[in-house]
Amino acid sequence: MRNRARRGGFVVPAPVIAGVISVVVIIAIICTTTLIDKWQSKKVNPTPTDLSSTVVQSEVSGVPVSEKTESTAESSVVTSKPESSTVSSTVSKPFTPQGSATPTDTSGKVCYLTFDDGPSNNTLKILDILKKYNVKATFFVIGTGKLEYTKRMVAEGHTVALHSNTHTYSKIYSSTSAYYNDLQAISDKVEKACGVRSNIVRFPGGTSNTTSRSHCSGIMTRLSKELPQKGYYYFDWNVDSGDASGNNIPVSRIMSNIRSYGTSRQNAVVLMHDTSAKNTTVEALPQIIEYYLNAGYYLAPLSSNSEPIRHKPNN
Ligand code: ZN
Repeated sequence: MRNRARRGGFVVPAPVIAGVISVVVIIAIICTTTLIDKWQSKKVNPTPTDLSSTVVQSEVSGVPVSEKTESTAESSVVTSKPESSTVSSTVSKPFTPQGSATPTDTSGKVCYLTFDDGPSNNTLKILDILKKYNVKATFFVIGTGKLEYTKRMVAEGHTVALHSNTHTYSKIYSSTSAYYNDLQAISDKVEKACGVRSNIVRFPGGTSNTTSRSHCSGIMTRLSKELPQKGYYYFDWNVDSGDASGNNIPVSRIMSNIRSYGTSRQNAVVLMHDTSAKNTTVEALPQIIEYYLNAGYYLAPLSSNSEPIRHKPNN
């Protein structure tokens, strides 16, 4: 009887209990260490709000574009940080990116609406629309434009950027010194008009333009290398609205052009034009803004911290 009772009970030897406790303690220590490591790495990694992250990305546009205007083919877009660190000294007022929402409200995607060749008779309408949606944009202005409007651009948080004084290819691309003289002239005019010494630049025709070949061989390769060393940040685009292919391109065509690039890009730089003849760009603007807002983009003005979207020089 006694033997049977003993066999029916459940007796665990003390050494086994000690062993199990040790294993549990070791597992607990490992789990705690892993959790602490994870928490610390989270603190170190940049968050989506870090717009100046130095992620290098390659984007290739599949949309064919004409060569006559700034819609020059984007054979490839290379992004790299400007080499210069002397930029702050050339800017009298730093640009503070502000947009429709804080970047943390979105997936971290940023859209930069850019308007070339203004200011024009359409500028105030463009500014009114941007104000209505509380989004910011960038204006690459020219010397013959209505530069008095740059004051309002600055006051409303947009970036006033340098395009060209004359925008005459045969003049500005005849030599590097001719280009720099033209850049200095528009820079001085902008500062006089709105008090900002801008260091954000877009080459007429974009970095990939081939028009400059007939004026000076290799000039775009040289300028694109030298400009960052001089403290300028130049930007091309990776979304072309196609509004440069003629005047008053139908709104539906501008929208289908823009939609053809999709909304998967982390940084979308949209090329548009601000001229008196391009009324349909203004008409399409609310739809363009809504398209990017609905896709979760933060609409910001370009700054020296923006991801540099640049074309490869073709000359
Ligand atoms: Zn232009």
